[in-house]
Amino acid sequence: MSGNRILIVDSNIGARNWIIENVARPAGYVIAEATNLVEARAQLAAFQPHLIVLALGLGSENAPRLLHDYEAALPIIVTTMHRSADEVCAAQQAGAGAVLIKPFEPEELMQAIARLLRSSHSTRDYNALRQQVEQQAQEFNAVYTIGKNVTAALDIEEILSGVVSAAVHLTHSEEGSLMLLDHDTDQLFLCAHKNLDETTTQRLRIRVTDPLMHRVLSSQRPVMQSGNVVKLQSAFLAKAILAVPIMADAQVIGVLNVDNKIAARTFHEHDVHLMTILSDYAAIALENARLYAAKENERQRLETILRDTQDAVIVTDAKQRIVLANPAACSAFGLNTEPHGLPLSEAVDNRAVLDLFAQGRRHPHAWHTEIQLSDGRTLRGQLSHLSGVGFGVVMQDISQLKELDRIKSEFISTASHDLRTPLTSIRGYIGLLPRVGPLNEQQQDFVVRADRSMNNIIELINDLLNISRIEAGLDWEMLPLDLHKVIEDSAAGLQQSAAEKHQMLHLNVPDASPLLGNVQRLKQVVDNLIGNAIKYTPEGGHIDVTLSEQGNFLMLRVRDTGIGIAPADQSRIFEKFYRVQSDQTLTISGTGLGLSIVQAIVEKHDGRVWVESKEGHGSTFTVLLPTCQPVPIRVRQADYSLLASPA
Ligand code: ADP
Repeated sequence: MSGNRILIVDSNIGARNWIIENVARPAGYVIAEATNLVEARAQLAAFQPHLIVLALGLGSENAPRLLHDYEAALPIIVTTMHRSADEVCAAQQAGAGAVLIKPFEPEELMQAIARLLRSSHSTRDYNALRQQVEQQAQEFNAVYTIGKNVTAALDIEEILSGVVSAAVHLTHSEEGSLMLLDHDTDQLFLCAHKNLDETTTQRLRIRVTDPLMHRVLSSQRPVMQSGNVVKLQSAFLAKAILAVPIMADAQVIGVLNVDNKIAARTFHEHDVHLMTILSDYAAIALENARLYAAKENERQRLETILRDTQDAVIVTDAKQRIVLANPAACSAFGLNTEPHGLPLSEAVDNRAVLDLFAQGRRHPHAWHTEIQLSDGRTLRGQLSHLSGVGFGVVMQDISQLKELDRIKSEFISTASHDLRTPLTSIRGYIGLLPRVGPLNEQQQDFVVRADRSMNNIIELINDLLNISRIEAGLDWEMLPLDLHKVIEDSAAGLQQSAAEKHQMLHLNVPDASPLLGNVQRLKQVVDNLIGNAIKYTPEGGHIDVTLSEQGNFLMLRVRDTGIGIAPADQSRIFEKFYRVQSDQTLTISGTGLGLSIVQAIVEKHDGRVWVESKEGHGSTFTVLLPTCQPVPIRVRQADYSLLASPA
């Protein structure tokens, strides 16, 4: 305890000296003296004692007043001559740590001083600790509040202002600012501030060339400056500055600053630590705001596209409750403006749409169908499985295309019909030419060529008429039939062509359930597929024809080792007149109508046809046809889920 400062307040010099000689000096205390309260107060300010020894007898002065004034801050020992119980009580009530009645032994005073100094030190330590804990709690609270705001609030300006206020408050600085980097101009511009005056806020744009800011941006670390006046390029003056970078994706996007303009108070490591936490919060808030803005932008764009598109769009969840129906869909199906959440079957009264969604539930591939509207329009609906959402159908108005197609088919049908008769007659006369007189070699060659060309034209016209009749629904007598017999029949007719190209035409067509169909038309399907396989497979290739039963369906597959079809062409070869243009197909004749006839016939049988192919490796055409069912069913509602077929 030696080295503690003790103030002795006593008007009696003898008493003071007695204490100094017998108690204070031997114990090693530093001593100051006062003879009255005025001197005592002056010493309190100048000497800053750790303890006071105060004699009650100070003449006319009321010594306990000193007790009242300093009791809370300083331990005081009162000495008195009197044995009056009142005076002793009054001194104790006023806060004296000990009262000693003169005469007392030096030992007594020494012990009282030591005890009071000990307890005063522990009180001081406790208070300091409490203050530290309170400050930490305050800091934690401020940081926590900012953190909570960052995740809860989306008003970026509010959050950034909160960050700057917390920075100023926690670092006990005079003012603060948050500046963001404008990459276009290479300047930092003010985004939020606390206590900056108006003139500063108006001109606070700092070039990155500013030495202080440059250091922060290039080192990506906090920078502290103090001592002499710090002058920023913007004429912004301060005595101490702490600037901390705001980082996003390992890049500095801004700077959080606090400064003291008036007080020369410098910043410390603890301030850097707090500021770094706050700048991290600012970075998170800015990143959140950026992501939110980007998402909102995207949402608005999508909303605009959906609102303004002419195509009708309906999206449902997995349980077929409407998630979205754009205005075009609402007007097409007479939906009220907010069908959100309604079951599709309640909101939409259109069989084709309901069937389309029903197919999607059974089989997770894309499906399409034509949808007839009550106002006469025809839509083509394409259903897609939207993972994590449910199903979506996009419906395009194809009424005009349908009408054009009808007119075109009508024209083709009439023209083909009118052309066929004279062509048959020309062909007849060409056939007669060798009979009416001998032809020289060249004439014979011309006749062969003319005959071949006539055959091509007649084949084209027959195909055209075929398509017209199929589309018009003519010649559609449907009877139970065995598809394997149809295939065998067709293959037998084509064996010769395959043999001419030294190809292996192999059949694996076991007896299968009968199906309800048209024999001539189905033979046309098989003829076309095997015929194409022979045509588009080079000499020596293989053609495999297989038939299998899959649930309620028959699956016919024609696989070849031919030239194959590029992915871009695969989706188009079923279009009328579409022929793949390549060096390999150049010399192969055809009308481009075979596969459209195949597709039309298969669809008339409520089946599906598709191709899988790899250029240079061959193609596989698959036809799926429903077998005869004891009870007639609508194939649109048939269960395709057993079949592994691509969309
Ligand atoms: P085409 O009379 O031209 O054969 P199709 O409608 O039957 O007309 O076929 C359309 C196109 O599809 C053909 O021109 C050909 O390019 C391609 N194609 C059809 N079948 C095959 C196949 N087995 N291998 C390769 N390409 C084929």
